[in-house]
Amino acid sequence: MSNPGWNFDNSYAQLPKAFFTDTKPAPVDSPKLVILNGHLASALGLNPEVLQGEEAVEVFAGNKIPEGAAPLAQAYAGHQFGYFTMLGDGRAVLLGEQITPDGKRYDIQLKGSGRTPFSRGGDGRAALGPMLREYIISEAMHALGIPTTRSLAVVTTGEAIYRETELPGAILTRVASSHIRVGTFQYAAGKGNVDELRILADYTIKRHYPEVADDNKKYLSFLKEVIKRQASLIAKWQLVGFIHGVMNTDNMTISGETIDYGPCAFMDTYDPATVFSSIDREGRYAYGNQPFIGGWNLARFAESLLPLLHENEEEAVKLAQEAISEYDGLYRQNWLAGMRAKLGLINEEAEDESLVEDLLSLMQKNRADYTNTFRALTLNRLEGAELYNAPEFSEWHKRWQARLGMQQEATEESQKLMRNSNPSVIPRNHRVEEALDAAVSQGDFSVMMNLLSALSHPFAYVPEQEEYCTIPAVTNKPYRTYCGT
Ligand code: AMP
Ligand code: MG
Ligand code: MG
Repeated sequence: MSNPGWNFDNSYAQLPKAFFTDTKPAPVDSPKLVILNGHLASALGLNPEVLQGEEAVEVFAGNKIPEGAAPLAQAYAGHQFGYFTMLGDGRAVLLGEQITPDGKRYDIQLKGSGRTPFSRGGDGRAALGPMLREYIISEAMHALGIPTTRSLAVVTTGEAIYRETELPGAILTRVASSHIRVGTFQYAAGKGNVDELRILADYTIKRHYPEVADDNKKYLSFLKEVIKRQASLIAKWQLVGFIHGVMNTDNMTISGETIDYGPCAFMDTYDPATVFSSIDREGRYAYGNQPFIGGWNLARFAESLLPLLHENEEEAVKLAQEAISEYDGLYRQNWLAGMRAKLGLINEEAEDESLVEDLLSLMQKNRADYTNTFRALTLNRLEGAELYNAPEFSEWHKRWQARLGMQQEATEESQKLMRNSNPSVIPRNHRVEEALDAAVSQGDFSVMMNLLSALSHPFAYVPEQEEYCTIPAVTNKPYRTYCGT
């Protein structure tokens, strides 16, 4: 009668013991479901109604292990702000892999589920605000068409956690095509056991890149495919103004999904130097630096694969360098293709790159809102845009119009392309904070539900969404985001 639909497999648990520790979530006092992602549940083959029931809530809280699950904490390493560290799931456990009715495999992970052998000094817990924040932003990214981990549910634990102040504890159920990271490979390489490294690589290829499994240089093909997916992912971030905030190598997936929504935020005013994270004092993970960091992280990935690339180390290094050298070009191609679409350009002309760069310079100079500038161009409603009164803008606009005239396709085609490429609604920081404040301080989830609903159709351009397009009021207090809360 009340079958939730869990259908677990535990392939990760078949890897060598070095890669994980069997760990149960730590039970909590009095769990309460605060949000469930019904659409995602259905897509996973789960029953959204049954998931609202008491028994399912016990599962989301870590109090009850569903049948077939084999909980574990994953071991990994990572370069954090450039420094190599041994890490692991310090406040998360993988329940297992849900096999969907159409045969897809997704990790089901509880985040904030208590201490693990990798917790170091941490309490293994998470606060309600940040877990809801991850829910909102990851679901917004998904709706924007950007590969990402997703959020199935958030429960409150009924327990307080202690940061600078006392906060309500919560657990997020995160869904990912896997949680294998660049840092997982760094961990394997760091242990110096090539057999285990090869087992991890074969496992990951089978799970995410089966198309290269039969290549005669399959590990090199694997590296190249990961580079391709990350070049595409990071271009997508840049195109919507998403700032990840903590692009440590342990926060870069091999699948090419965005992971770890801690200090991330969307940029309002266009400025490549934009940083929101309170701990990123040197701007390592600033908006404009993300493509470079992507390449840096992939170089660390390539290094960890060296023993598999060639038996001769020099040859291996050569192959790795060759693969890595393709990243910049791939990133640039993806980005430029996306920018052309944002400007309604269907064909390619040599001048496109400077057309785009000049628009961005104008935005930066005039402190224009990134999303709303493209929105104004899409709607051809320029009067309100910050750029409108800049004398160089009318020059640029003429160039753009002339460039649009250089293509065969009808104007409607261009307009359609722009609408599908320029979101009008993004999770703006002030609206996210407003939603979290209502939910956490007043127990009013309606603000968040309305925001989520607007964010689920970012390209709809419907009047009901207009209120979410307004930019934040000017303040002299910069917006700040935090890690590990
Ligand atoms: P992050 O910066 O979010 O990627 O986290 C870096 C590492 O710190 C990961 O291994 C996390 O599992 C761990 N971590 C973050 N917060 C906590 C916490 N409250 N308790 C234990 N470990 C944590
Ligand atoms: Mg992390
Ligand atoms: Mg994190």
